Amino acid sequence: MRDRLKVLLLAGTQEARQLAKRLPEVLPAAKITASFAGAVTELPDLGLPTRIGGFGGGSGLADYCRSQDIDLIVDATHPFAVQMSRNAASVAEMSGIQIVRLERPPWEPQAGDRWQIVADLAEAATLLPARSRPFIAVGRKEIGRFYHRKDIDAVVRMIEPPEVPLPALWQLVLARPSREVGVEQEFLQSRAVTHVVAKNSGGHASYAKIEAARNLGLPVLLADRPELPKVPSFGSIEALCDAVRAL
Ligand code: NAP
Repeated sequence: MRDRLKVLLLAGTQEARQLAKRLPEVLPAAKITASFAGAVTELPDLGLPTRIGGFGGGSGLADYCRSQDIDLIVDATHPFAVQMSRNAASVAEMSGIQIVRLERPPWEPQAGDRWQIVADLAEAATLLPARSRPFIAVGRKEIGRFYHRKDIDAVVRMIEPPEVPLPALWQLVLARPSREVGVEQEFLQSRAVTHVVAKNSGGHASYAKIEAARNLGLPVLLADRPELPKVPSFGSIEALCDAVRAL
């Protein structure tokens, strides 16, 4: 007979860091293990037993959950981390494991925003005008979708450099987004940016660039949320914790 609830926390977001603190309070008897993809080398200490690296697809995740006797998966990955969320949902369904997802609400347009919603980054890449200087705020795994646009002069910011170097003349800035709108405004102005390309990630950590674009009257090509599998989802840490407590 099982003595302790075993929880797998799929991390990689600010919310996952908060959940790493809250879940042990909500489930004091549970054994909670956090998991990172390991996409960046500098990972925060979540204060929980942590594993790093992919599981090896759905079957690898299923094996892991079986070997660790996982009862509950808490998916706190990024809203655009589609593959991980799909794998987690299908393993949960096939193995009878409970699953909950933290789904941070998307950003909503405000007065002054000049958003063009696009289905995905590939569409954003086709819509950028020739000779524009877009600030392309996407990760190192996604920037390659813009490389065929040799006729733009892009500014790219990411935490670690892409595996395939940027096209010649594009500017690479290795940094995290600032939470201060003034800093983001100065960034866009000093580089004479004409467009912003971003994903509708929601949350606070990367919103300042959207506000900066609004203040500067810049058009934003904003990739819409991808469709994720239907699992019980919660818009806030506390709502998710309440649901977990009631399980
Ligand atoms: P993804 O496309 O859904 O995941 C690709 C693969 O990375 C998954 O199939 C899985 O490998 C592995 N993986 C992802 N999250 C993992 C986790 N928490 N623990 C163990 N393996 C994980 O996701 P992604 O867009 O590459 O994002 C990777 C991580 O970065 C996620 O944790 C996400 O929350 C975070 N992140 C993503 C974004 C974004 O815009 N996509 C932004 C900020 C942070 P296997 O199939 O081998 O298991």
